[in-house]
Amino acid sequence: MNTKHLAFWPRITKSLTVPETTLYDNLLVSAKRYPNKPAIHYYGASFTYKELLQEVDALAGYLENKLNVKQGDRIALFMQNSPQYMVAFYAILRARAVVVPINPMNTQNELEFYIKDCDVKTAIVGQELYKNIAPHQNHTSLQNLIIAAYSDYIPTDETNPTLPAEVTAPRHIFNQENHYLWKEAIDANLNPSTYSGEPDDMAVLPYTSGTTGMPKGCIHTNRTVQANVVSAYHWSATTSDSVHLATLPFFHVTGMLHSMHAPLFGGAALVILTRWNRDFAAKYIEEYKCTHWVNISTMVIDFLANPKLKDYDISSLLSISGGGAPLPEAVGEKLNQLTGIKFVEGYGLSETISHTHFNPPERPKLQCLGIPSFDTDARIVDPTTLKELGIGEIGEIVVNGPQVFQGYYNRPEETVQSFFEMDGKKFFRTGDIGRIDEEGYFFIVDRVKRMINASGFKVWPTEVESLLYKHPAVQQACVVGVPDEKRGETVKAFVILHADSVGKVTEDELIEWAKGQMAAYKYPRFVEFKDQFPTTASGKILWRKLQEDEWNKMKVG
Ligand code: AMP
Repeated sequence: MNTKHLAFWPRITKSLTVPETTLYDNLLVSAKRYPNKPAIHYYGASFTYKELLQEVDALAGYLENKLNVKQGDRIALFMQNSPQYMVAFYAILRARAVVVPINPMNTQNELEFYIKDCDVKTAIVGQELYKNIAPHQNHTSLQNLIIAAYSDYIPTDETNPTLPAEVTAPRHIFNQENHYLWKEAIDANLNPSTYSGEPDDMAVLPYTSGTTGMPKGCIHTNRTVQANVVSAYHWSATTSDSVHLATLPFFHVTGMLHSMHAPLFGGAALVILTRWNRDFAAKYIEEYKCTHWVNISTMVIDFLANPKLKDYDISSLLSISGGGAPLPEAVGEKLNQLTGIKFVEGYGLSETISHTHFNPPERPKLQCLGIPSFDTDARIVDPTTLKELGIGEIGEIVVNGPQVFQGYYNRPEETVQSFFEMDGKKFFRTGDIGRIDEEGYFFIVDRVKRMINASGFKVWPTEVESLLYKHPAVQQACVVGVPDEKRGETVKAFVILHADSVGKVTEDELIEWAKGQMAAYKYPRFVEFKDQFPTTASGKILWRKLQEDEWNKMKVG
């Protein structure tokens, strides 16, 4: 068995010194230490740290001088993984503005919410997503669009027909007012102002629904992000010789932290895939001798199922890890048999800019969140009384640590509700139900919050319900999570139709309609019509009862 990875892990201590610096400072340091080392490999093209820094500064200069971006402005980043994503992220920070990462799967309807919620004036978008965001220009706060073609960054002679279409699509010309082309922005090479970023500047505003309701922006400063960047760097034992295969989307905190910021902090190289493809993953692991791969269970399952996998040399891999959803035990074991590597799972939330827990790499447990990360105090409390519980007792997971966000953007009440004091410290309520074993490892067993975890994609029932209500036949909707073999959980909607619509619309028609209204991972895969819902005395729908009935049906069947 291949055990070389065991000697590779450092001893993990409980506490870390995090420098009083910003994320952009990390780029400055890596570019100074390793100017000519590759920072990014992208479908056959490579960029050094020096080149990356030059592009970041050029784009920051354009944002400041041409688009008048000021400190604290929120800039939407609506793109797929690409070198431009990384350049844009650091350029926004260089201009002391705030990155608002938006899931590229969002539809035109859904986008409006984010733009309005945090008053976005400028967005940087992949050209394939342009059609979803352009209609919001001028009648919301949105004024300026910078539009990027990923093909600008791959060699012109790259004719591989298996590359994703959006990667090879030639640059389109957009002739509307306030539309700017990425290439022109970089080539303008405008000088940014002297950098004066501070650790306490707001840096990133990732959206999540928290424990209730509609999406909310989580306020993260350079300081909260930096804490987890340094922490991720240690957990993964990244060095400047590491090569990270980046397949998780950068808009989500796990990909952002573990596959972008932490490798950059360590001066490592990134191999970026715009879209998941198991052959490209295996090919690039071999070609660039990737050492690290952070992923989600569906990718591991697909990767292992590739009949051609044995044709690739993947022996360079030292670390395979993931978070955001559990990895089925059997998959972890298969991965171990094949590579000798033990899958390392982590746990965290958008509110904690990825991990609060990590499995010790030398002795990880499967289907386990791990132990609390550096400087993180995590406990289990009774969700009603908020009193701390003991080993093995089941309650809500709460955390205090340097990575915990400052609050929800413009939502003081929800912010207050998500924190409480214990032993003189402020703890964040995760809304996840778990337990601790005798060795201090945490496990998740349920959720207090209404959230569906479809292989790491979080679906918020309230959001899906509010979209369903736009259908004229829908009188009442209740969305729940149901078991799904591949995705772990998937989305089901119970619907009461208006009396005059009964018999005029079918379940399948409603599913088809929903598909056009919301991102692909959100729309209900199942719809069931009902005459009434179980409710509390006050009329609140008992969604949990509907959900439990579905899971029980599965157990019986
Ligand atoms: P997000 O804010 O999108 O990162 O979602 C955070 C939620 O993902 C957590 O509250 C958990 O419910 C879930 N989650 C994160 N990590 C894990 C894990 N390792 N196993 C199971 N669920 C997880």
